Amino acid sequence: MSDRSLPSHARVVIVGGGIMGCGLAYHLTQLGWSDVVLLEKAELTSGSTWHAAGQITHSTSSISLGKCVDYNIGLYSGGLEAETGQPVTWHGCGSLRLAYTADEMDWLAHTLSVGRALGFNIDLVDPAFIAGLHPFYNLDGVMGALHTPDDGHVDPSNVTMALAAGARARGARIIRRCRATNIIQMATGEWRVETERGPITCEHVVNAGGTYARQMGDWSGLQLPMTSMTHHYFVTDPVPEFASLERELPVIRDDKKVSGYIRMEQNRGLIGIYEKENPNSVWHDHCPWEAENELFAPDYDRVMPWLAESLNRMPVLADLGISRVVHGAISHPPDGNPLIGPAPGARNYWCCCGTQIGIGWGPGLTRELARWMVHGAADISMRDFDPRRFGSYATKEWQVEKAHEDYCLRHEIPFPHFNRQAGRPVKPSPLYERLKAKGAVFEEVYGWERPRWFARGSVEQRDQYGFRRTPVQDIVSDEVRAVRERVGLIDISAFTKVEVAGPDAAALLERLCANRLPRRPGGIALTHMLNRRGRIELEATVTRLAADRFYLVCAAFFEQRLLDHLAYAQDVYGMCTDIILRSNSHAALALNGPRAREVLAKCTDADLSNAGFRWMSMREITVAGHPAMAFRMSYAGELGWELHMENAAALNVYDALSETGKPHGIRDYGSFAMNTLRMEKAFKGASELTNEVTLAEADVLRFARSPHAYLGRQPPQTALPWICAYLEIDPDGIHDGHGGEAVLYKGKPVGSTTSITYSPTVDKILAFAYLKPIAAAPGTDLSVLIAGQPRPARVRADPAHDPDNTHPRTDAP
Ligand SMILES: Cc1cc2nc3c(=O)[nH]c(=O)nc-3n(C[C@H](O)[C@H](O)[C@H](O)COP(=O)(O)OP(=O)(O)OC[C@H]3O[C@@H](n4cnc5c(N)ncnc54)[C@H](O)[C@@H]3O)c2cc1C
Repeated sequence: MSDRSLPSHARVVIVGGGIMGCGLAYHLTQLGWSDVVLLEKAELTSGSTWHAAGQITHSTSSISLGKCVDYNIGLYSGGLEAETGQPVTWHGCGSLRLAYTADEMDWLAHTLSVGRALGFNIDLVDPAFIAGLHPFYNLDGVMGALHTPDDGHVDPSNVTMALAAGARARGARIIRRCRATNIIQMATGEWRVETERGPITCEHVVNAGGTYARQMGDWSGLQLPMTSMTHHYFVTDPVPEFASLERELPVIRDDKKVSGYIRMEQNRGLIGIYEKENPNSVWHDHCPWEAENELFAPDYDRVMPWLAESLNRMPVLADLGISRVVHGAISHPPDGNPLIGPAPGARNYWCCCGTQIGIGWGPGLTRELARWMVHGAADISMRDFDPRRFGSYATKEWQVEKAHEDYCLRHEIPFPHFNRQAGRPVKPSPLYERLKAKGAVFEEVYGWERPRWFARGSVEQRDQYGFRRTPVQDIVSDEVRAVRERVGLIDISAFTKVEVAGPDAAALLERLCANRLPRRPGGIALTHMLNRRGRIELEATVTRLAADRFYLVCAAFFEQRLLDHLAYAQDVYGMCTDIILRSNSHAALALNGPRAREVLAKCTDADLSNAGFRWMSMREITVAGHPAMAFRMSYAGELGWELHMENAAALNVYDALSETGKPHGIRDYGSFAMNTLRMEKAFKGASELTNEVTLAEADVLRFARSPHAYLGRQPPQTALPWICAYLEIDPDGIHDGHGGEAVLYKGKPVGSTTSITYSPTVDKILAFAYLKPIAAAPGTDLSVLIAGQPRPARVRADPAHDPDNTHPRTDAP
C-alpha cells in the first residue's frame, strides 16, 4: 500500500506528525505493534517541531524526566542515526547552567544530587572553569555553574524524519496531507477517525496534534488543558570570533539575566528568550487548520530587556545584525508537564501532547507511552505526566492563565514546593475561608485548596522559598508536636471519595484489590490496586458500608485514575455497579492525637471506647448535630478519627471540634506536618507507590492478602531489582533534602530517595529510597547526597515513631 492510500482499519491511529507522533510510531513498532497509521495534515514536522532550537540537557531535578532525557541523548548521539541511516546532526557541545545567587547555587547542588542518582556526567564548576570552556561570556557576578558535558543540540526535523524512517521500516504507515476531521468512539469501543480522505477505524487512537491537540480533544468531548504560547529565538550574523574556534562552545543557560539560552548556530550566535512578564499566547479558541510552518512577526518590545542583557553577556554578538528570527508556538499545559497517557474517561484514547520540550523529552516520553499502550504500564513513574491529573475545573479560561504563569516560570528557580498562584482558588473546600482567616497557607491539589501550614508569631502567612531550611520548618515542627503530644485537626476534604454499590460491587472490588475486602459492614481495609503489568496503580482505603456498598478513599490527584480503573474492570469482567463520586459533595476532617477521644466525645454521644469503636472500623455517628461517617484510622499514627460529612455540615463540625479542643491545646495542621507524621510512622505515600514498582519492590506485600485472582496478581518475585528502604539521615540543621537525591553505598550510587523530611520527633531526616537490595538491609550504613554533599545515613528496620503501633489503639480516655 502506498503512502497516499488510507487503510480502512488499523490497530493504532496516531494523529500528528511532529516529534511526539513520530516518536510514538517509532517506539510502538519497536515493541512489535506494526499495524500503526500516522496521519499528518501537512508535512512531517510542519507544526512546532521544525522550528525548535533543538537543545537537550541533563540539567533536571525530575527523576522521571531525567531518565527520558538520558535515553534521548543516547539516541541522538548515536543510536538513531546508526539504525536508520538518517543523519540527525547531533552537536555534543555540552552545556553550562549559570548561577548568580546562593539560591541558584543551591538549586544546582540539588540538581547535581539527583543527576548523580541517575549516573549522569554532571558537575558543579567555578567561574575559572567556565571561562576556560567559554571565553566569550561575561561572567560578572557569576558564582558557578552546573556543567553537563554530554548535552547538546540536534536538528529537530532530521530527528523526526529518522524516527519516522525507523517506524516505517518496521511497518508503520505514515500518511501525509491527510487531515483528521473528527474522532468518535463507536458502540464497539473502537475509534473512528474521520479524515479528508475518508474514515479509518482503530482500536487505539492517539492525539499527537501539538498546538491542535486541545481542539482535537473537543471532538471527543475531552477537555485537554494546554495553551499555545509563543516563544522567540534570534540568530545573528556570522561571528568573526567563532571562525578560529576548534570546538563548539557549550550551550549557556542563563536563567537569571537572560531568562533563556545562548549557543552557537554554526558560525552564528543563537539567543532564545523566555520573557518573565507579559507573555503572549495565540489560538485560544481555534488553531487554524491551514497553518503550516507558521511563524509570527517578531515582537522585540516584549523580549527587549532580556535580549539587551544577552548582548551584554555575549559582547561578541552585540554589534552584529539579526539574520533570522524564529517566533513560534509551543503547547504549555497548566503545570508545564506534558500530557502523556490515557485521556480521562475515554478508553484507548491516548494523549501524546502538551509537550513544551518536545526535542528534549519527546523520544523518552513516547517510549514510555508505547510501553503503557502495549504492556499496560510504563516503566517510569508517569504520575506527573498523566493527563488525568486535571479535572473538569481546568476550563479553557483557567488553563490559559496557568499557561501564562508556566511560561514566565520557565527560567525561574524551581524552588521546592513552589506554589503556583494563578487561577486560584478554583475548588475551595467549605472550610477555605475559615482556615484562611486562621493563617492557612494553601496549596492546590487536583484543584482543591489544601492547607500546608498555619502562620503563627513572626512567620507571615505566605510561602517562603529556599533549598535550605526556612522558618516554616519551626511551624511545621510545632504542628507535628501538637499532634504527637496533644491533638490536631486537618482539612482533608481534597481526598478522592467514591462509592461503589450494587449486587456486583464486592465481586468487582475483589477483582481489583490486592488485600482482603472487609467482611463486616464498618470494616476498613488498606489496599493497593495494580495495573495489568502487576505494578501499583493506586493505594486506597476500602470501607464496607453494607453487603453491596463500599466507600473508597484515595489521594486527590488519583480521582480520575480510580474512576477509569473501576470502569475498565466493569467492562473487562462484565460487571455492573453504580460508581458514585462523593469528592465534591462530601468534606472531610481528621482529628489526631492522644486527646482526640476527649475532644470528639464532647461533640458526639457515640461510644468512642475501644470496645465500642474498634480500630480500623467505621461507624455512622452524629457530630455537633450532623450525621458523619467516622473512620477510626490515622495516617498520623496516633489515636484518631476521620470524619466525612456532607459539605453543608463541615463548618459546624469544624467549629465544634476547634472549640471543644481548646482546653486540650488543639492545633490546626496542614499537609507539611501530615507528611512528616506519616514519614515518622514509615507509611508509604504516592511518591513510593507508583506504576514503576510491584508490591514486593514497594515492600507492601503484607497488604496483599486477597485469596482472589485480582488484576495484576503476580507469582512471587524471585529477585528484586530494587526495594523501598526506610532511611535515617543525620541532619545538619540547614539542608533537609527534597527528594530524588542519590543514595551511595560504599561510595557508589545504589538508588535515590523518593520522600524525605526532617522529623522533629526524633531529630533526624527520614527518607524512603528505592535501593539495590545489597544496600537495603536494615542497619546498612549509607550516605545520601544532600545539596551535593554526602551525609551519613542508615537503613532503619522500624518506624521512627511508635514502632509497636500502640498509640492509635490506645484505650486511654
Ligand atoms: C522558538 C522555539 C524554540 C524551541 N526550542 C526547543 C528546544 O530547544 N528544545 C525542545 O525540546 N523544544 C523546543 N521547542 C518546543 C518544541 O518545538 C515542541 O515541544 C515540539 O515540537 C512539540 O512537538 P509535537 O509533536 O507535540 O507538536 P508538533 O510539532 O506541532 O506536531 C503536531 C503535528 O500534528 C499535526 N496535526 C494537527 N492536527 C492534525 C489533524 N487534525 N490531522 C492531521 N495532522 C494534524 C500538525 O500539522 C503537526 O505537524 C521550541 C519551540 C519554539 C517555538
